[in-house]
Formats: sequence, structure tokens, C-alpha cells
Amino acid sequence: MSTNLNGGIPRLLVLGTGGTIAGSTASATGGSYAAGGLSLTSMLGDLAGLELSADLIPKPIAQIGSQDMGWDVWDALHKEIVAAQSYPEIDGVLVTHGTDTAEETAYLLDLTLAADKPVVLVGAMRPAGAVGADGMRNFANAVRVASDPDASGRGPLLVMGDTVFAAKDVRKAATSSIDAFKGYPRGPVARVTPSNLDWFGGATRKGEFARYQWPEALPRIAILTAGAGMDAKPVEALLSIGCKGIVLAGMGQGNAPKCVLDALGEAVKSGVPVVRSARVDEGLVDRNVEVDDDAYGFVAGRALGPAKARILLMVLLANGVSDRSEIQAAFDRG
Ligand code: ASP
Repeated sequence: MSTNLNGGIPRLLVLGTGGTIAGSTASATGGSYAAGGLSLTSMLGDLAGLELSADLIPKPIAQIGSQDMGWDVWDALHKEIVAAQSYPEIDGVLVTHGTDTAEETAYLLDLTLAADKPVVLVGAMRPAGAVGADGMRNFANAVRVASDPDASGRGPLLVMGDTVFAAKDVRKAATSSIDAFKGYPRGPVARVTPSNLDWFGGATRKGEFARYQWPEALPRIAILTAGAGMDAKPVEALLSIGCKGIVLAGMGQGNAPKCVLDALGEAVKSGVPVVRSARVDEGLVDRNVEVDDDAYGFVAGRALGPAKARILLMVLLANGVSDRSEIQAAFDRG
């Protein structure tokens, strides 16, 4: 049994947002269900038989599919977690979350929270009632991780499929398999089962303060996916709706047709920062490889894929960081 520093059963705040882990299906073999259909109370009720050695304190925040995740839920989550970090009686925080945007929420929290008590996001690929449903196992694993004092000082973690990832690395890489998550540049930071937890290295961020202030709002940043034969009209359209920044999900190492790069270069000249990331599954986007970033004024997204590059650019601009070299330095750090 895990015990906290006071020798008692760990007390974990459970913030519910919905997702497939809070979804159920009437047909064990059918394909359709609604993410977030179950309340947090009824979802936790299903855990009663698991005999988890933790005291769970439920707090519903939302009941949505994470495709609808956005400012209001993020703001509520951030406030709850900051408060929980200051309550000595709370040992860790669990966030139940849809898998579609879990990486975005995890990374946003990573950038804006102190690396203090464990914060663990958990989801499921299959709803309750489906053959091989993974939600309860993932939840039991997440309880084990959040109860472990060694989970602190690592930033927010995501637990899926017996695997623990750090927020900065993790991404959803498959639409439906239960091992849908991958890490880049680092793979998993631990393996977990309901009875075992093995870390692959120590916590390196103990005592680290929040890197960025939690903002009043987040600016509109768009992701533009490059495709063969496209023209520059989408860039013009994004500027016309007031985008404050553009993340290019480019081909290969963040490439795009010359007409698109030229239009993005004009956007930079008008004060709209442009970050080049890649639409391919993984790998670094470095400066000045095939695209002359220095001449265009672009930022290279480095290890961050488009979804996380958008989060970082939103947080930077909301914190008043608009100098190109400062933005590049933030992306170099990731
Ligand atoms: N669309 C769902 C969501 O992100 C998928 C899931 O949770 O697996 O909420």
C-alpha cells in the first residue's frame, strides 16, 4: 500500500472533465458511444470493487469530449490544481480527460504550474461496457502513480496503457488502439500496473517554479497544415480573422510550398509570429535546413508537434513574450 509522508493513505483530488473514460456503451461490441456521458460520481462508483488504497476526493469540472476542451475548463483546472498544491492534506491530483487533447492540457499545465505534487492525467480508449474496456485499469494505474512521492518534481504526467509519459513528450499517435500514445523525444518515463510502478529515471524538476504566469485569456493561434499544390489563400484567410500567431504543420521538416512560405513571411513582417512544425509523426524541426528561417523571420518548432507548438505560442504571447529570439529560445527548451 502506498502511504503519504504523514504515514496515511494518500489523499488524491480527482478532477473530472469527461472523455471516453467517462463514456459508456450499451453494446459491448458496437462502435458508438458518447464521451463524457457518465458523471464523475458514477464513474468512481465503478471503482468500488478495485480496493484502491487511496482516498479519492471527487470534483467534477466538466463532462465533455476533449475535442471541446478549451479556456473555461483549462482555467478551472488550473485554479483547482494550484489550490490543491497548497493544501497539505492533498497528496496528488488526478485529472480524468478525453484522449484527443490530453497532450494539450497536460502541456499547458506543464508550462504554467510549479513542478510540485503529482498531477496525473488519465483517459481511456474504450468506453465502459465495451469488450476490453481500459478505463478502470488506466484509472487504477493513475492512482498508483499519483500516490507515489516519486511522481512529484516531474511536471504533469499522462497514464495510458500501463505507461507513464511526461507532458512535454506525449502525443496521441493512433485513433483507436489502447496503446495509442507515444513519447518524443523521450519515450515513457515509467511502466505501471495496478500492482507495480517502475520509474526509468529520477525526477529532475523538483522545486521548479511555474515557467509562465497563468494568463487572463489565450490569444487566437491557428495551425495551418501544408499540402501539396496548395496556394497562399489560407494564410490570408487566417490573417483576416485576426490570428495573433500561426503554427505551420509543414511537410517533412516543416516545409511548405514557396508561395505559402512567402505569405507566412509577410505575416511575420506584419507582426504575426510564425512557428514551423511538422505534420509528420515525429522528429525535430531545426532552423535553416531547407527553409531560410533567418530571412523569413520564422521560429523553428524543434521537438514540439503542431498541437503543442500552438499551446506554447499561446502561452508565450499571453505572457508578453513576442521577441523572435525569445520565442525561439522557448521552443529550443520545449
Ligand atoms: N473524443 C474522445 C475525447 O477525447 C476520445 C477519448 O477520450 O478517447 O474525449
